[in-house]
Amino acid sequence: MSHTHADWQARAAAIRIEGRAFINGAYQDAHDGKRFPAVNPATGQTLCEIAWCGPAEVDSAVASARMAFDHGDWPRMAPRERARILKRFAALIRQNLEELALLETLDAGKPIGDTLSVDVPGAAYCTEWFAESIDKVGGELAPVDPSLVGLVSREPIGVVAAIVPWNFPILMASWKFAPALAAGNAVLLKPSEKSPLTAIRLGQLARDAGIPDGIFQVLPGAGDVGKLLALHLDVDCVAFTGSTAVGKLIAGYAAQSNLKRVWLELGGKSPNIVLKDCKDIAAAARAAAGAIFYNMGEMCTAGSRVLVQRDIREAFLVELKKAAARYQPGDPLDPATRMGAIVDRIQYDKVLSYIDKGQSEGAKLLAGGKSAGIHPQGLFIEPTVFDCERPDLTICREEIFGPVLSVITFDTVDQAVHIANDTEYGLAAAVWTADLTTAHQVSRRLRAGTVWVNCYDEGGDMNFPFGGYKQSGNGRDKSLHALEKYTELKSTLIKL
Ligand code: NAD
Repeated sequence: MSHTHADWQARAAAIRIEGRAFINGAYQDAHDGKRFPAVNPATGQTLCEIAWCGPAEVDSAVASARMAFDHGDWPRMAPRERARILKRFAALIRQNLEELALLETLDAGKPIGDTLSVDVPGAAYCTEWFAESIDKVGGELAPVDPSLVGLVSREPIGVVAAIVPWNFPILMASWKFAPALAAGNAVLLKPSEKSPLTAIRLGQLARDAGIPDGIFQVLPGAGDVGKLLALHLDVDCVAFTGSTAVGKLIAGYAAQSNLKRVWLELGGKSPNIVLKDCKDIAAAARAAAGAIFYNMGEMCTAGSRVLVQRDIREAFLVELKKAAARYQPGDPLDPATRMGAIVDRIQYDKVLSYIDKGQSEGAKLLAGGKSAGIHPQGLFIEPTVFDCERPDLTICREEIFGPVLSVITFDTVDQAVHIANDTEYGLAAAVWTADLTTAHQVSRRLRAGTVWVNCYDEGGDMNFPFGGYKQSGNGRDKSLHALEKYTELKSTLIKL
C-alpha cells in the first residue's frame, strides 16, 4: 500500500536517527564531542546532531581498516563468499527502503517519490550488481615465452577512502563502496556534511549483512575529514565524487603524501542539442526540463545548457515553458511532489545569486527566477529558464547545480558542436535528431563521457561506464570498468 503525505509526515515526526560515526563495527561519538546539526532544508528543523570526526577518529578508522585488510578474511575470502555477504547487504538496503528513503528526503530535501524509486533501490541494485559480478571476472594468461607461465591478476588496492557529495547521497556512495568492497578492499566512507544520514545508517546494515569490522566504516564531518583521509599515508586510494575545485585539491593531497590512487568524478555543464529535424519537439522539451529540474537541478549530468536550432526555437520554447511549469516545488514528503528543497542555505544563496547574475548580464528570464514559499524556513526555488543571446554568459559557463536552465540558439550543426564543447567540463551531452548519420556524427564530435541520442539521463542500469572527459574527472563509475579503479594489476612470471 502506498503511503500518503500525512503518513510520511507522521513517520518523519517519529523517526529515530543515528548521528554517530561507524568505526570498527560500532557507533561512536567524536572523542572531543564535536558535532554539527543535520538540518531539514524543507523546514529548517534540526533533525539530529552528527559526530564531527577529527584526526583521532580518522586515525583509528584507518588503523582498523588497515588491520582488517592486511590480516582479516575479507580480501582473502573466495569471491563467491564475498558476493554472498554483499548480496545480503543489498537485500538489507531493500528491506529498509522506506526508512532510508525517508532519511534521504529529510536530510537532502529530495522528493520522497524519488528517494523511494531511484536513490535507495539504485543503491541496492548497484551493491547487488557488483556482488554478482565479482566471481565472474578473472585474470589473464599472458602469451609469453614458452619457458614461462605469465599470469596477469587483479588484486585489491587496500584501504579505499570514498568521499562523496550530497546530491545523491546513498546512490553516489554505492557507486564507490560496491565495486571497492566487491574487489576485496576496506572502505572508509566520508559522506557530505550536508547529507550524512543514510551513510551512517548503512554502517549497521553492513554489519548485519556480515561485512567484517573495519571493512566498511563511516566518518561524517566536513571537508577537513576528507582532507585528512586524502593526506593519510595508510590510505591507498581515494575515490572522490564532488566539485572540480575540490577534486584538484584531492589530487594535490595525494601528491603531497603517498601518491595514493586518485579517482575523480567531478562537475559538469552539459549541453543538450536540439536539431531542427528532431522528431518530436514536445518530447525533446519535456526531456530538457527533466534534465535540469529533476532533483532540483542538483545533478552532475544536469542538462544545464539547451542548444536549440533557430528554425524550431519558438515552437521549442512554448513546449519548454509548459514542461518547466510541471516542476513547481512542493513539500518533499508529499508523494506528488516533483521538485523538493535545495539542500542547504549556502547552495540556495548560490543558486539565487546566479539567477541575479543572469539578469544583470542581460539574459532574458522566460520562467521562474524566484524562491518559492512552500514553508517559511524552507529553501525552495522555482524552475528557472533563461534565454541567453550569448553562450559566454556566466550562467552558460559555470556549474550552478540548481534548477536554472540556459537556452542558447544556434544556426548550424558546426556551431552547436563548437558551443557544446567550449567548456572545461565533459561529463555528458545529448543530441536530438531524426537522422541516424547526424546522430552518430554529432555524438562522435561531442567531448563527453556520456552522449544521449533522442533522450536524456536514460540508462539507469549498471552496464554503462559513467564518468567525465576533461575537468569532469577521470576513471569510471559503474560497469565492470569500475573494478579497475579498486584493483592493482599484478604480473606473475613462473619459470618452468
Ligand atoms: P564538494 O566538492 O564541495 O564536496 C564533495 C565531498 O568532498 C564532500 O564530502 C565534502 O565534505 C568533501 N570535501 C570538501 N572539501 C574537501 C577537501 N578540501 N578535501 C577533501 N574532501 C573535501 O562537492 P558537493 O558540493 O558535495 O557536490 C557537488 C559537486 O559534485 C558538483 O560539482 C557535481 O557536479 C559533482 N558531482 C559529480 C558527479 C559525477 O559522477 N561526476 C556526481 C555527483 C556530483
